[in-house]
Amino acid sequence: MMEPTVRLADKVALITGASSGIGRESAVLFAAEGARVVVADIVEEAGRAVVAEIESSGGSASFVLTDVARAADCEAMVRHAEETYGRLDVLFNNAGIMDPADDDAVATEEAVWDRTMAVNLKGVFFGCKYGIPALRRAGGGSIVNTASFVALLGAATPQLAYTASKGGVLAMTRELAVVHARENIRANALCPGPLRTELLMKFLDTEEKRERRLVHVPMGRFGEASEMARAALWLASDESSYVTGTTFTVDGGITAAYVTPS
Ligand code: NAD
Repeated sequence: MMEPTVRLADKVALITGASSGIGRESAVLFAAEGARVVVADIVEEAGRAVVAEIESSGGSASFVLTDVARAADCEAMVRHAEETYGRLDVLFNNAGIMDPADDDAVATEEAVWDRTMAVNLKGVFFGCKYGIPALRRAGGGSIVNTASFVALLGAATPQLAYTASKGGVLAMTRELAVVHARENIRANALCPGPLRTELLMKFLDTEEKRERRLVHVPMGRFGEASEMARAALWLASDESSYVTGTTFTVDGGITAAYVTPS
């Protein structure tokens, strides 16, 4: 019988937005696959609970309070990873917000636009700005940036700032991949479809809005954060060693569909 593989053995992974949703599921899964995990989030109590859960299962994790929209915080989270575990191999820039007041071009307030860009786009830039030197010191590594299917398709339920921010993440990820390819640093964008997480359910806050979104999903259901975590695990691990610059879509078929079965 083949030995079960531990896919992130000896690796140190930093995950932003790891107190909830995709980040939380990824932290737990990455730790179960042998990684030492830095849980970085703006929400402390839930983040420390993720660390406690990992430790109670025999894994290693550490929390660092981080607002990814602040350069100093991102510098500190990377320093925390290197000081705590000696290196950084995987940088999962996953933190993101979807403001309920994010709307169409006419209705969206400038402050909503600025905050969305600061977290979703500048946060990824800051993660890379401070994380890439650490990946270099480790001899290379894997960057995974969470974008969204809305960067690939227009949605009729408007969320202009969010959509634009995720388009920026996709474009930035391609350039990161090309620029750092010879340094043994890979960069890929994870494009989740609509998920049954708090983030989306708060935005699609009526049954009608949820049904409207599901009409477009061939599988006829929302995805689960754990399904994104498994995709992120593959991108983070050496199993994807020849994969860089991709838009890795995990969306129940939504971007493949013209008309969905009813
Ligand atoms: P979530 O709300 O469950 O988790 C997001 C996490 O990010 C939370 O723990 C939150 O505290 C943290 N966060 C928010 N602002 C932060 C900041 N400034 N600094 C640090 N941490 C911050 O949502 P999720 O669905 O797990 O979202 C994760 C990522 O997936 C986001 O980038 C989101 O845009 C993206 N995404 C989600 C969906 C979906 O349907 N839920 C679809 C496509 C993409």
